[in-house]
Amino acid sequence: KRLIPASTVTSICGYCATGCQLKLHLDEHGRAINLTPQAGYPVNLGMACPKGWQALDPLDSPDRATTPLLRNEAGEKVPVGWAEAMEAFVTRFKDIKEKHGRESVAFLSTGQIPFEEMAFLGCLFKFGMGFIHGDANTRQCMATAATAYKQSFGFDAPPYSYADFEESDVIVLVGSNLCIAHPILWQRVMRNQRNPKIIVIDPRATETAQAATQHVNLKPKGDLALLYALAHCIVRDGRTDAESIRRTEGYDDFVAFLLDYSPAAVSDRTGLSVEEIEALARTVSEPGKRVSWWWTMGVNQSYEGVRAAQAMINLALITGNIGKPGTGANSITGQCNAMGSRLFSNTTSMVGGHEFAYEDHREKVATGLGIPLENIPSDSSLAYDQILAAAEEGKIKGLWIVATNPFHSWIDSGRLAAMREKLEFIVVQDMFHTTESALAADLVLPSAAWGEKDGCFINSERRIGTLKKVREAPGVALSDFRIFRLIARAWGCDELFGQWTDPEAAFRLLRDLTKDRPCDITGLEGYEMIDRLGGAQWPYPAANPPVDQERRLFEDGNYYTPSGKAKLLFSPPAELPENTDSAYPFMLLTGRGTSSQWHTQSRTAKSDILRKLYPQDAYIEIHPADAARLRLKENDMVTVRSRRGEMQASVYIAPTVQPGQLFLPMHYPEVNRLTHSSFDPHSRQPNYKACAVALAKS
Ligand code: SF4
Repeated sequence: KRLIPASTVTSICGYCATGCQLKLHLDEHGRAINLTPQAGYPVNLGMACPKGWQALDPLDSPDRATTPLLRNEAGEKVPVGWAEAMEAFVTRFKDIKEKHGRESVAFLSTGQIPFEEMAFLGCLFKFGMGFIHGDANTRQCMATAATAYKQSFGFDAPPYSYADFEESDVIVLVGSNLCIAHPILWQRVMRNQRNPKIIVIDPRATETAQAATQHVNLKPKGDLALLYALAHCIVRDGRTDAESIRRTEGYDDFVAFLLDYSPAAVSDRTGLSVEEIEALARTVSEPGKRVSWWWTMGVNQSYEGVRAAQAMINLALITGNIGKPGTGANSITGQCNAMGSRLFSNTTSMVGGHEFAYEDHREKVATGLGIPLENIPSDSSLAYDQILAAAEEGKIKGLWIVATNPFHSWIDSGRLAAMREKLEFIVVQDMFHTTESALAADLVLPSAAWGEKDGCFINSERRIGTLKKVREAPGVALSDFRIFRLIARAWGCDELFGQWTDPEAAFRLLRDLTKDRPCDITGLEGYEMIDRLGGAQWPYPAANPPVDQERRLFEDGNYYTPSGKAKLLFSPPAELPENTDSAYPFMLLTGRGTSSQWHTQSRTAKSDILRKLYPQDAYIEIHPADAARLRLKENDMVTVRSRRGEMQASVYIAPTVQPGQLFLPMHYPEVNRLTHSSFDPHSRQPNYKACAVALAKS
């Protein structure tokens, strides 16, 4: 039967931080029956990747959570009503709090829900329920970039606009497989009419590296040393920008530090020749050329990711490649609303980019939300890894997991099984009752998904866009926003949240709190205005509303630090937390394997079409020389073993990895049995990208 839509609405895609706008075609009951990419939206220009095209499929999955499930004394999860679910939630968490204090329960949330819901969760949990610790899975994706920007610029402020992809002469992608991780942004690169050099710095010959004009095939985690060597050459040869350097702090110390990082000094660490490094330094500092630096998880998910991100920021600052078209040190965010989490609820900041640590910020938030000042803690939360470590030690006894799946995605995931035994009560709030985390829960709260609720996401280029309800949630599932309202009432603190009547009311409340912060969006009236504008990049202050659709930060050379200058930050590269040896002779790289699957596949694997585009069982990439030495053939089954666990995978022989290296896509749950618990000391982001493993034919 041919379906003729009765009407259409627009909505931002709910997967990655590109933030494509989709046109949802509705039947006469307002129910989405199909979708197409929106041609007029300044982000995606009429394109969508396979995940976006199939975004409605997971909503119809038979394993949707349709009713609350509560584990009984026999250990089985049985359906219950919302009243019983709320009673269990409140009784168990209040009991734990009474016995063990306000640090004994924590939440783990997500970059996948609208920022109105994120902010509500953070405010409810800390100001209403009286706990302190909560973090989001943005710790696994963007914490490094957020920390790097905050330290260097004085605020978590990605400076760019997507138009910069089209306006650069030299595009340097570090640890970013843009082709498949952000396919629409790669299309923006392809639209560049300036005949750009596209340089990919990556230990693996990714799809992006193969499509680039140059692949810099360095050793795993040689990035920081290489970036310092590039700065060394640029300073030595006087290819710097004096005016831009005047807007920085710490230049003389940086120059002294760089003396130790000549190309010859880093050649062994990076696996690159002196000539290769010298040539690259000239390319990224060519006078009159617009150079842009871009990074994603290859940098962020590292034990020294903050310094690597800042090494790119430093390069942009000393060469004058910031605040101008086609330039920047640009973090491409992972999740659809990671930026929302960064600005509206994280471990150190609360709503509107305010800090728990500052009294005047706490006072402003208390007044704005109508909440007693004493309800707002001055302490920052533990970070994700510290929350899990505290649970392992028995200090945290209750965990509330919202729209994320740590039992699959967390590094060295075998440790979570031991942690599970220590926890007294786990609540998982999710659209599915079948994720690894939902299976471990004592209480499952069924939540509405993307497409079943309203709100806003903020994409990588700081653009706020709206999502729309175009389906009813199944069974008695509710939006996260409504679940938080139920919890506020059941906990006895709903009078504090009387203004949070619906997502748009919350948007207005939060908007007003951004006044005079770098992310000021007081000029945005509401959802209708955001749609009319084609999304709106922050800042969008009422006092001085912008006129351009695409804007970058720091055009005036002023940064958000107390001095108004950017800080040049650096420290010597550290040793790999786990290197290869005779027992574990291969370096394992992990990463995205396809544009058709998303993270732990909990949603995308529900689509028949997306499943056909990607192998359902794990495979491992191995170099032909290593395969020949181990007498392995294509599709042989192998056991991959680290000091922490093992898994099975089929062999895929390809020169995409270097000899001595292996690559596993992150989408399979077994992969994190292998990864090594190590973290960036500044951002606490996990180091997923490099650990030592052994390989044997099964
Ligand atoms: Fe666009 Fe990302 Fe959605 Fe694909 S997943 S359609 S690139 S927002």
